[in-house]
Amino acid sequence: MAYDAGKPVEAKQVLIIGSGFAGLGMAIKLREAGIEDFQILERGSDVGGTWRDNHYPGCACDVQSHLYSFSFEPNPDWTRMFARQPEIRAYLEKCATKYDLRRHIVFGANVQNARYDETAAMWTVTTEDGRSFKGSVLVSGMGGLSNPAMPNVKGLEKFKGKAFHSAHWDHSYDLTGKKVAVIGTGASAIQFVPQLQKVAGRVDLYQRTAPWIMPKPDREIGQIERVLYRKFPALQNAYRTAIYWMLESRVLGFAVNPKLMTMVEGIARGHIRKQIKDPVLRAKVTPDYTIGCKRILISNDYYPALAQDNVEVITDNIAEVRANSIVDGNGVERKVDAIIYGTGFKAQDPMPRGTVFGKGGVDLLDAWKNGPEAYLGLSVAGFPNFFMLVGPNTGLGHNSMVFMIESQVAYVMDALKTMKAKKLRAVDVKPDAQVTFNKGIQGQLSKTVWTSGCKSWYVDANGKNTTLWPGFTFVYRGKTRRFKAGQYQLETAAAAAAA
Ligand code: NAP
Repeated sequence: MAYDAGKPVEAKQVLIIGSGFAGLGMAIKLREAGIEDFQILERGSDVGGTWRDNHYPGCACDVQSHLYSFSFEPNPDWTRMFARQPEIRAYLEKCATKYDLRRHIVFGANVQNARYDETAAMWTVTTEDGRSFKGSVLVSGMGGLSNPAMPNVKGLEKFKGKAFHSAHWDHSYDLTGKKVAVIGTGASAIQFVPQLQKVAGRVDLYQRTAPWIMPKPDREIGQIERVLYRKFPALQNAYRTAIYWMLESRVLGFAVNPKLMTMVEGIARGHIRKQIKDPVLRAKVTPDYTIGCKRILISNDYYPALAQDNVEVITDNIAEVRANSIVDGNGVERKVDAIIYGTGFKAQDPMPRGTVFGKGGVDLLDAWKNGPEAYLGLSVAGFPNFFMLVGPNTGLGHNSMVFMIESQVAYVMDALKTMKAKKLRAVDVKPDAQVTFNKGIQGQLSKTVWTSGCKSWYVDANGKNTTLWPGFTFVYRGKTRRFKAGQYQLETAAAAAAA
């Protein structure tokens, strides 16, 4: 969408930040409801969110694609059970085109801050390049994992070779024959290390904590099967439903009875035994915490890659990075041409201080002194007309985030409907509703495998889980089916005019 700097800012009914699954899903439902008065602010130059930004070799989804897609927009053309990044990105681009969303998107709009003006009941969003946008309702579709985290390692800035984060993969740098250090062994690293191993001269893999890895039930989806899905959408829908329930059943182990994880751990141990023969390497890659405490990963090619001669798994901490080498905790120095950070994202810090200001100019981070929290993961007291998609405690370790996003979008749509019907200009969740909701969440989380004693990005420095939904996703769907007007302070347009 073209932006005319000379034009006065026109207030929209809804402003959306981000055009990944969340932002696009929101926009599609707005258009379906006949609401055209909205704008999407996107920092990149195209849609896709995390699936536009992450394009490292081997990047793929670890949720089956029949389920990791919008329920209202099935894709019979998925070529694999677990689609790879280019296909998922293309799917999102196709959605943007099909639903004619690009004319609503302002690309290159990197949001610097958003401020709520109580007098006007209006959000003003300012972008890094000084533009401003206004909207009565602000929907954040920024995602929980969009800002890369860099490791805090001595001497990092002294490194003279090539260095990049997995979320900023530099494809112009030829890794062929190079000595490459990889820091981190999370979901991203286990996908790119097997690709890297094939071309690099040597890979030094710095592992702080071994991940639990299960076999990946991936396969190609052949032409005939794809034709069947196209001809009989009910078939694909039935498959989607079956996958949903299979994944949903995993909550029983994660959150209901963590003892059930012992069986899962047995499968993961068998996976190591089958794919790695060297007992020393086996010992290095075998985790020492309950499976599920950190995100369970899936891969068929990671362990075989580690077993190759040009890969070394280093479990000693990094003591120091020098101009052309890395020194480990034992004082061993290894020369490297490049360092790739597979160190994940700032999940605990979804946004920096100075980004969102609510009533009275309060910074969202000051409202979150005890860590991020929201009513239903969507609304924060003191931040009227602000809805967070993929907000606090709505992440998943067991099922498709797209399911959660669709639940949240439905809630926001019902909120807009309610605001129109009741002629409301502002809705602000009641502080006690937020407190009660979060007490319940934290109570449930305390009994889950995620608090069984490991260190993960699910929990903050104080041991509080601010990222995950503690149970079944259908329970969340039920809670978000209707906007809970009774839990909000409602400000009518008439009362505001009379004041
Ligand atoms: P991650 O899972 O958070 O892994 C980061 C890795 O870096 C961990 O192994 C961590 O070790 C290590 N690390 C961090 N700081 C370090 C330091 N200072 N020194 C040494 N090691 C350090 O990050 P990610 O792999 O990018 O994945 C993030 C999330 O993105 C995933 O959990 C998942 O939700 C999502 N993701 C999804 C897919 C998918 O297929 N759907 C694919 C990729 C990513 P510790 O374990 O010791 O902290």
